[in-house]
Amino acid sequence: MNDPFPFPVKSTCAYCGVGCGIIASKDEEQNIQIEGDPVHPANLGRLCSKGAALADTLDLEGRLLRPEINHQPVDWDSALDKVALGFKEVIETHGPDAVAFYVSGQLLTEDYYVANKLMKGFIGAANIDTNSRLCMSSSVAGHKRAFGSDTIPGCYEDLELADLVVLTGSNAAWCHPVLYQRLVAAKEARPHMTIVVIDPRRTASSDIADIHFAIKPGTDAVLFNGLLTYLNHRDKINRTFAEEFCEGLDKALAAAERSAPTAGAVAKACGLSLTAITEFYEHFEACEKSVTLYSQGINQSSSGTDKVNAILNCHLATGRIGRPGMGPFSLTGQPNAMGGREVGGLANLLAAHLEIDNPDHRDLVARFWHAPQLADKPGLAAVELFEAVETGKVKAIWIMGTNPAVSLPDNSRVRQALEKCDLVVVSDCERNTDTAAFADVLLPALAWGEKDGTVTNSERRISRQRAFLPAPGDAKPDWWIISEIARRLGHDAAFNYATSADIFREHAALSGFENNGSRDFDISGLAELKQIAYDGMLPLQWPVTKNRPQGTTRLFADGRFFRPGGKAALVPVNPQAPVHAPDAKFLLILNTGRVRDHWHTMTRTGKSGRLSAHRIEPFAEIHPTDAERFEINDGNLARLETNWGEMIARVHITTDQQSGSIFVPMHWNKQFASHGLVDALVNPVTDPISQQPELKHTPVRITPFKASWHAFVLTRKRLDINAEAAIATYWAAARGKGFWRYELAGEHDVASKTELMHSLFSAHTFDANWLEFEDTARGSYRGAQLVNDRLEICMFVGSSPELPARDWLQALFSEPTISELNRASLLAGVPPLGQKDAGATVCACFGVGMNTLIDAITNDGLTSADEIGAALSAGTNCGSCLPELKNLLPNAAAREKPRNAA
Ligand code: SF4
Repeated sequence: MNDPFPFPVKSTCAYCGVGCGIIASKDEEQNIQIEGDPVHPANLGRLCSKGAALADTLDLEGRLLRPEINHQPVDWDSALDKVALGFKEVIETHGPDAVAFYVSGQLLTEDYYVANKLMKGFIGAANIDTNSRLCMSSSVAGHKRAFGSDTIPGCYEDLELADLVVLTGSNAAWCHPVLYQRLVAAKEARPHMTIVVIDPRRTASSDIADIHFAIKPGTDAVLFNGLLTYLNHRDKINRTFAEEFCEGLDKALAAAERSAPTAGAVAKACGLSLTAITEFYEHFEACEKSVTLYSQGINQSSSGTDKVNAILNCHLATGRIGRPGMGPFSLTGQPNAMGGREVGGLANLLAAHLEIDNPDHRDLVARFWHAPQLADKPGLAAVELFEAVETGKVKAIWIMGTNPAVSLPDNSRVRQALEKCDLVVVSDCERNTDTAAFADVLLPALAWGEKDGTVTNSERRISRQRAFLPAPGDAKPDWWIISEIARRLGHDAAFNYATSADIFREHAALSGFENNGSRDFDISGLAELKQIAYDGMLPLQWPVTKNRPQGTTRLFADGRFFRPGGKAALVPVNPQAPVHAPDAKFLLILNTGRVRDHWHTMTRTGKSGRLSAHRIEPFAEIHPTDAERFEINDGNLARLETNWGEMIARVHITTDQQSGSIFVPMHWNKQFASHGLVDALVNPVTDPISQQPELKHTPVRITPFKASWHAFVLTRKRLDINAEAAIATYWAAARGKGFWRYELAGEHDVASKTELMHSLFSAHTFDANWLEFEDTARGSYRGAQLVNDRLEICMFVGSSPELPARDWLQALFSEPTISELNRASLLAGVPPLGQKDAGATVCACFGVGMNTLIDAITNDGLTSADEIGAALSAGTNCGSCLPELKNLLPNAAAREKPRNAA
């Protein structure tokens, strides 16, 4: 049979906002291979570890393949009728504000457009919000205040052309790796380029920094106000630009002067050295080509919008915007957060960057859509939306492609809200998410690789996402599911789409409708694309009009903005402290973020053994002085508690972490860890302008988790760990190559470790093939089972966390049979003489472990990352591990570190 897809197929990566192009092809065994697209302008062939492992996530294990009602399979008509009837009844009884959609930056623009149209145009409420609220709504609000539009002025190339790149509140090396690698390459090519990293933590992104400011958490606005004051005192304000093309300069300068009158005052407020601050300000003064790249560290704050505007003020005051090598640059987290912004996926926006508060805009959209009852006021933003679900104000909610039971702050309350809600509909490609567990109706959506549409990346570049896999089971495109509900609600004509191209054309036409240059978002040049042209569409940056059919690289160089009167605004910024400060009970600050190889709530990356190898369980990074103070030991477990919740995490003591703060990654869900939900601890306070939650600043306390036993289990088959290990207080699971790994610990004393493991895994057969050994004096137990001379399962238990290293044992699961030599060493947990333990994975692309690297560096005298790459391939694919490789080199300690200005 002919393959229905014209391999190789060009598409776009499923993960971050860099928006890398990929090429999907099939090898001789018909397996899908994913490579970077060498001509996609975002990545020019590069992929990071996540992108390179996309093929690992394509199988159907765990997929939702049939519609379900009350977790029982039904046909599509039954499920759609149930949803439509449920929404209809709530709307008729309680009004349109009693229903809501919570959507996702994982949706394609076409899906997003239809969801927004249905809620705002035809249901008549604006209760549609997106998980992008959690990552970049402060940037949207800041852009709109300054520019009158949500516009990214520049492009990725500006980073490479700049003489100064300021990376603030962004660990791009891990969160936007390909863009970071472009920056690394640019600095290598132009060594005079200065890179300043501003982050309370020393992260992998600090690796290329000339100066790293370990800033006191929450003081970014003071730092940038101080820069504005400095530029003013040095008479370096570009008055021609700031007065001719902007408003509010004097008020912004006055506010900056009040809060940051001198570099010395800034140094004190930010906990930094005067010398380093002065050096940074001098660099900014000297380098006209300056780019300020920022991300969640700025946005996820109770004053995130002000922080954004403090940055924008510096660029507007100097006229450094929209020209090659200069400008403020907000990096978006998700692959299509930008597409969501374009179609009005946030509750306070209309489609096509139009304003819900503007009666002319409402009239325009209502006429274009022939909408009977366009929403006339903003809807509920994410945090307040789920509060409204909890109080019963919202009685029916449809969650599309996102996992709020894990990702929202104070998510125990979100879970309670979903439990109480009359009707919870979840459309997703995965069946077993934490959120899906609360669904009354589950609707199977297509996954990446099966979907067809467009996404927009952080530089306004629209790329096609193309299907290269058939729809499995009954799965359908999100836009189809939404349109079917719209039809059942009586809006047949407005949702009569046959293809995603139909939707794209309508979206493009709306962007140009009565626009005439008055709005930034205009892709009317694409409004008449035929199907064949849509299918073949090349990546291009909006605006795309009839006059600019190739798109637009930069905006604002001409000083023309989209506020009334056409001028930009400098916004007076009065820096605010975070809402909740540490107190006698909660002495430290909890900061959350991402790790290198996982994405969001792990529903996809958790399927990949190589992506799960880098960080295998929830962890907390803490400075040595705090660890000593709170009697926390490296490698042990600790309990973290806040006013909102608690979790258990493995401790990692590091001087990269600032004293006074703890960092915990956001990814672990209930499928992968018993107590790993960090967002359950996070306060639900939001920025009053953007409604973005303060995910990086919650007072917390840490105490040792006093386990009486620790264990790990490696097993070929996934365990039903909740059922099997019910008496384990703590567990974490990770997939490996051919095995599952479980880390366990318990608080309850046990008389016999053998009995413990036999009772924990009572479903398992402890038969004659089972080898076991208990050392009662040492309080340890070791057991393993071979089936047909192949390792099936092994388990190690002890009274402390110091159990055998896992890596050699894990490698045995790739062996077709276990040799006599290895069998003899199995219960010792260490390789026989002459064999080496590769150690914990550092390079995920080539599976190179820490011990292998250290051996090669020591024995072969390797002195650079290039030499490591030549010897072991490590670091030669995506480059995400290069900072870690460099830190292993013998000269790492002596290597000039970026000056930490604290
Ligand atoms: Fe995907 Fe990595 Fe590119 Fe982001 S940087 S789009 S995760 S390949």
